[in-house]
Amino acid sequence: MRDQIYIDGRYVASASGEMFDVIDPSNREVFHRVPAGNAEDIDRAVRAARRAFDAGPWPRMSGVERAAVLRKMGDEIAARISEIARIEVQDNGKPLPEAVWDIEDTAGVFHYYADLAERFDQEAEQKVELGMEGFSSKAVKEPVGVAGAIIPWNFPLLMAAWKVAPALAAGCTVVLKPSELTPVSALELGGIAERAGLPAGCLNIITGFGSDAGAPLTEHPLVDKLAFTGSVPTGSRIMAMAAKDIKTLSLELGGKSPLVIFADTPIEDAVEWILFGIFWNQGEVCSATSRVLIEERAFEALMERLVAEAQKIRIGHGLEDGVLLGPLVSPVQHEKVLNWIETGKKEARLVTGGGVPPGLEGGCYVEPTIFADVPEEATIWTEEIFGPVVCVKTFRTEEEAIRLANNTRFGLAAAVMSDDLDRANRVARAFRAGIVWINCSQPTFTEAPWGGYKQSGLGRELGEWGLNNYLEVKQVTTWDRHRPWGWYLKE
Ligand code: NAD
Repeated sequence: MRDQIYIDGRYVASASGEMFDVIDPSNREVFHRVPAGNAEDIDRAVRAARRAFDAGPWPRMSGVERAAVLRKMGDEIAARISEIARIEVQDNGKPLPEAVWDIEDTAGVFHYYADLAERFDQEAEQKVELGMEGFSSKAVKEPVGVAGAIIPWNFPLLMAAWKVAPALAAGCTVVLKPSELTPVSALELGGIAERAGLPAGCLNIITGFGSDAGAPLTEHPLVDKLAFTGSVPTGSRIMAMAAKDIKTLSLELGGKSPLVIFADTPIEDAVEWILFGIFWNQGEVCSATSRVLIEERAFEALMERLVAEAQKIRIGHGLEDGVLLGPLVSPVQHEKVLNWIETGKKEARLVTGGGVPPGLEGGCYVEPTIFADVPEEATIWTEEIFGPVVCVKTFRTEEEAIRLANNTRFGLAAAVMSDDLDRANRVARAFRAGIVWINCSQPTFTEAPWGGYKQSGLGRELGEWGLNNYLEVKQVTTWDRHRPWGWYLKE
């Protein structure tokens, strides 16, 4: 495991020499220490990225050449899935099969953006038809410049890939600031990039806290673009800081996503996707369907099956066989979620869970927790909890379900289940959310756009939209100089 930051193609100590503890949430013990990067480290990293962008080969290479480097990065990540997944289990707490899935996806993201970089050579220029004779015009896509990427802790390396891979594919250079809670896997990317042939300065990685490293990166005048994933309050702060220099910005923020279940949904399917929608990754998922709306006449039978299955979920260390729910990411997050549960007990009816599982008091574990009869104004219904806690409510009509689903300041994701696909599609169109699932909840694909409406964010990641995040569009218009313009100089 790396214990240095990565600047200008080299692993180095931080300017202050200070380090901070990285905690294993399964036992609350320190398992590693990494540098506490500060404004001086960020400045060195941004200047290296600036030099690499302004004078280095990377933005000037063809897409095919950039693709070769990205593909090799994906190849090395794919070859090290088991090793890196184990780092994620120790750092984040998630069960190993989920961590393996993350790292497979991470490799896939690099491979996908390698393909897009290759296509970019043909697609970077687009002819624009003008309504005036004598002119020809084209729109040319170019890299936006130095990108600052600030990421959360729930999918540590995957969240890094969602930003680093498209930024590099576009020809940008990057300074990455991983979450202070899960900084370990991201540090591996430096060596991976170097061995793949990425020129020095194109990727820089600074570990550290939000206020000490994230804020200076956000405010640095030599950064052109900021890509942030995290909470709404931090996103709002970053937006305000970015406004000073009018930096280009993309924000992927929180959610309180609804899952609407009509009574014609087979009960087993409903149970499966409710559980997956909130307990996968300990519910520490921005798009988790944490508000479940069930058609009233299906409620009793569905709840009975749901509670029975939730109680069977095996909780434990992420490396243990058969575990489906690991510890939450940190003691602070553990405390926060337990506090939410206490609030929930006053606001609604606790159906199952609600505590620390017996025998697992040493780690940051929380039982799968279900609340029912949750009033619309309850804070557990309106606020993001970011843990294995789901709120259930009933509805009578399609209109009521849509109104309840959309009555939130968030708009990241929404899901609907029904045997009637016309109805499901109608509800899907009525949702005010950027990601909508029909008859499932959560599956995420590198090819499809990802991002939120309302306070859940700005812009889209993944797919071709993810690449466009890191591109400027330049208009190049040519006048046929053999014609006279004849405005001032009359013939
Ligand atoms: P957070 O906002 O606390 O931190 C995110 C990152 O921002 C961290 O790297 C942190 O160090 C940094 N940061 C904190 N203060 C900063 C500041 N003042 N200036 C610059 N950077 C600063 O979020 P978190 O707790 O790490 O992640 C959980 C949140 O992320 C949840 O709200 C979740 O919904 C959201 N999330 C969204 C998506 C999405 O795609 N929309 C994906 C994952 C997580």
